[in-house]
Amino acid sequence: MPPANPRRQASQNLERWAISILRDAGAISECEEHGWMRERGDPYAVARARRAAGDAPPRGVCSSDAIAAIDDVLGAIGDSCPDCSTRDEAEESPRFK
Ligand SMILES: [Zn+2]
Repeated sequence: MPPANPRRQASQNLERWAISILRDAGAISECEEHGWMRERGDPYAVARARRAAGDAPPRGVCSSDAIAAIDDVLGAIGDSCPDCSTRDEAEESPRFK
């Protein structure tokens, strides 16, 4: 097996950390049915999460990198669950030809 890439590992850990900060701040929430993270569109919650990240970055990460990680995760999360929106589209389109 090739050795794990420590850089990649670190960025995954930072991503998980950013998700937990965003969840705690109420900026994102999980779809109860599918488990996908959704942005809740609350700018105050996002501001809280960014402040929390800057105030208490994980060990070995500087404040600006911690805040950048928050922004990266937010940028990758949509405002709706992909599985829920797929189902909505399927319901709108005719089932039979
Ligand atoms: Zn869903």
